[in-house]
Amino acid sequence: MHRKTEALIDLDAIRANYALACRLAPESRTIAVIKADAYGHGAVDVAHALQGSAPAFAVAIIDEALELREAGISEPLLVMEGVNSISALECAAEQELAVVVHNDEQLEDLERARLPTPISVWPKVDTGMHRLGLSPGSLADTVSRLRASDNCEASIVVCTHLASADVPGSAFTQQQLETFDACVADMGVLQSISNSGGILACPASHRDWNRPGYMLYGITPFSNDVASAAELRPAMTLQSEIIAIREVAASESVGYGGRWTASSAATIATVAIGYADGYPRHAPDGTPTIVNGCVAPLAGAVSMDLITIDVTGIEGARIGDTVTLWGEDLSVNTIAKAAGTIGYELLTGVTSRVARKFTM
Ligand SMILES: *Cc1c(COP(=O)(O)O)cnc(C)c1O
Repeated sequence: MHRKTEALIDLDAIRANYALACRLAPESRTIAVIKADAYGHGAVDVAHALQGSAPAFAVAIIDEALELREAGISEPLLVMEGVNSISALECAAEQELAVVVHNDEQLEDLERARLPTPISVWPKVDTGMHRLGLSPGSLADTVSRLRASDNCEASIVVCTHLASADVPGSAFTQQQLETFDACVADMGVLQSISNSGGILACPASHRDWNRPGYMLYGITPFSNDVASAAELRPAMTLQSEIIAIREVAASESVGYGGRWTASSAATIATVAIGYADGYPRHAPDGTPTIVNGCVAPLAGAVSMDLITIDVTGIEGARIGDTVTLWGEDLSVNTIAKAAGTIGYELLTGVTSRVARKFTM
């Protein structure tokens, strides 16, 4: 019943990180991005925690928005991938969802629909990422068509997304900003560009609306130290417990495939977390965990439900001790780097088997 494999979520840290995003861009309004279950932290709880400070929330897909509405979240919600049918547009109108329009098909649907009330539309322009967005040359026409449509609210927010905001001073970001500015000039629309990286390191990308996600959860999007990111407070601590301890002799190996072999006598602790909980299967031997304030390196392949760590020399390590996989003293970015991925993937990959425990 009671498994001590938990993700502790510090909602106060999320509020502080949100406040930092606002403070860094005082001229902008800050929409809190809570897609993918708030990057694994629990979208409904995070939305509740930011109610009263965040004027709006953003999600990727309409189902995420509907879940928030069902849970009683009544703030404006932006669906960043937009919707792909007229019936979904009707649903968006009923639920008062704002939608991105990133291609001609979505624009045509919006013109053809007969919505009960006009909705807020965020046309997205492709300034170089080449993933989603209308071509810069077609933006003027799109905006005039939106203005002519009864389905579209008068206030239009033109947005784009930065491909390299995690690289401070990136020339590519500069190019995207120039492309954006050239195509929205004199259009009389609101603007939105910044994600976390843009907010923290590129003031020129701060516009009417900023869209931070990752930084709200207290992790830096940069691989190097950036001063503005130093204040971030990690919101998630992923922890588990030791459920077995054994001594192994020199040359004995541990786990599937015997990947790790003791070079001398060692104490191995088995911990109740594995890749089915979201701990990365690609984590190599030596990836740090923390036991009783000491680093205990991963020793052996990550299995579905368990990992094995080397607790040799950690005074008094025993069954029931807490093991921290990432959190305040061990950045998820460190684990991600060891496992060949990014912190975003690890945070969003913590599975539903792991109970979220919230502190205010
Ligand atoms: C996810 C996302 C964001 C937030 O990005 P972070 O790097 O997490 O801050 C902003 N805008 C769009 C369009 C997104 O998809």
